[in-house]
Amino acid sequence: MGSSLSACLVLTALTASFFLFKHLESQKSEQFFLSRSQSSQLDLYPGNHSDPSNQKPSSTSSRGHRRFVKLEPGDDGSDLDAVFRQDMTKFIPAKNHLGESVLWGLRKYKRNGYPVIDIDQAFRRRMVHQTHYYNHGAETPECQFVRYLMAKKKAQLEKLNVNNLQKRDYIIKLTFPWIPLNPLSSDAHDRYFENGDIEPHLISRKFKVSGGINLDTLQDKILQPIVGWERNSHAWIFTDLKDGACFGPKDCSAPDIMHLTMVYYDFLYAEEYTLAHLAQKEGERIQYTYDLGANWCHNLKIEKILSEQESDGAVVLLEGHGMCPPENGGGNGRWAEDVYNLRHGTRQEKTEVRHKLSRAPNVDLPPGTIDPKYFSIDEANKRLRDALRSHSSLRDGARTSYVFPGVPSPELLRLINPPRRGATVNRTIEAASGSSAVGLTEEVVSHRRDKNAKALCAVCGKAQGLKACTKCRKVWYCGSQHQLDDWQEHRRHCQCPKPRVH
Ligand SMILES: [Zn+2]
Ligand SMILES: [Zn+2]
Repeated sequence: MGSSLSACLVLTALTASFFLFKHLESQKSEQFFLSRSQSSQLDLYPGNHSDPSNQKPSSTSSRGHRRFVKLEPGDDGSDLDAVFRQDMTKFIPAKNHLGESVLWGLRKYKRNGYPVIDIDQAFRRRMVHQTHYYNHGAETPECQFVRYLMAKKKAQLEKLNVNNLQKRDYIIKLTFPWIPLNPLSSDAHDRYFENGDIEPHLISRKFKVSGGINLDTLQDKILQPIVGWERNSHAWIFTDLKDGACFGPKDCSAPDIMHLTMVYYDFLYAEEYTLAHLAQKEGERIQYTYDLGANWCHNLKIEKILSEQESDGAVVLLEGHGMCPPENGGGNGRWAEDVYNLRHGTRQEKTEVRHKLSRAPNVDLPPGTIDPKYFSIDEANKRLRDALRSHSSLRDGARTSYVFPGVPSPELLRLINPPRRGATVNRTIEAASGSSAVGLTEEVVSHRRDKNAKALCAVCGKAQGLKACTKCRKVWYCGSQHQLDDWQEHRRHCQCPKPRVH
């Protein structure tokens, strides 16, 4: 009795701590504004702002689907953006001055092409959602609207013939917008932000990848290692800039996924599509947003689509510039400021940035030698090779941080939160670092073979025509040559009778 009572108390404390962490996460950096001078306050007492009589009744189209959103009793529609009150079957995504849409095309845009987002309003709506929708299992008006757009996009993608494009290689240039090569002071950066993004950028990567690569795998095994981010520690979204359609991770358990319902509302599952579904022409751009709290914005420009004869399907990192910003470091605008402070700031400002960098799990440089322009293609290629050799990230096993009154042992954590039987073990149990992650972080990883749709050759990253190692059946190769090339490394893991704990 005594032991079960104390176990119960421990569980209660752990649960409370976990929710405390989640609460802190929700309050942290809502950096949808990249300008450094702008900030947003959370209004906890929104009050009633609008007249319930202005609600439009839900109505049904002749084809059977609802044309207008339905509000639950108790939601008077205050703070519901006007865009969601229109006939969803007639909705046309809004475009910025570049002719591109983000966030499903639901927002207006500033002169610089950035979407207008009222974070106070988004927070107030989330409170309404919690009270009148989530607690009753009802779909929010915003989600009703976006899910109609998702169904429409899904139908369009099903009709799209990408068979040929999936056999062709794409040359892609990745850049971080709003972070100029030459750092600008705070005032100058705000003007730069307002006037629009300009090249050259501080951070870029150029790489070749098959149009047939699975979008989830592109994020997990290619973008994260070549940019320098950690794998599977935050949520993320690809945006088709032609119509603002969003694609993200299925069953994602990363804490920042909670921001989804405030701004993006919902997304299609990236793992059901390939790169060719997102971009079909040279010159097109895709947006990749990483960490839905910090909103690290990356642009992927399709510089070239090679002919089928020129394409071999292998992943190749061609060049890169600039170090990856620190995980939990606050988004593009914050990093632009940090870079400026590293060069021109006061001694205290420099120390603060270096301290932040030294705590980031993805920055492995002695604090005194940090150079924002630093890039090593050898180090990036090593990260890429390691990722290709590994199994795909389990999105429902994303890194979870636990905050305790004192750091518990990994054994206690496994007792409280055991990994799924058989297929998974904890890869990392580490004292978490970074500004928002404190306490203990763990990730659950798969020891099963990647599904064919998400698989890549463990050596070259080809996505098509793969065969599994005949001994262990767990690793994919494009052919016997690459299996042979990898044997010295793979033999240590092949035929391993039990999942190994690393
Ligand atoms: Zn290969
Ligand atoms: Zn094997």
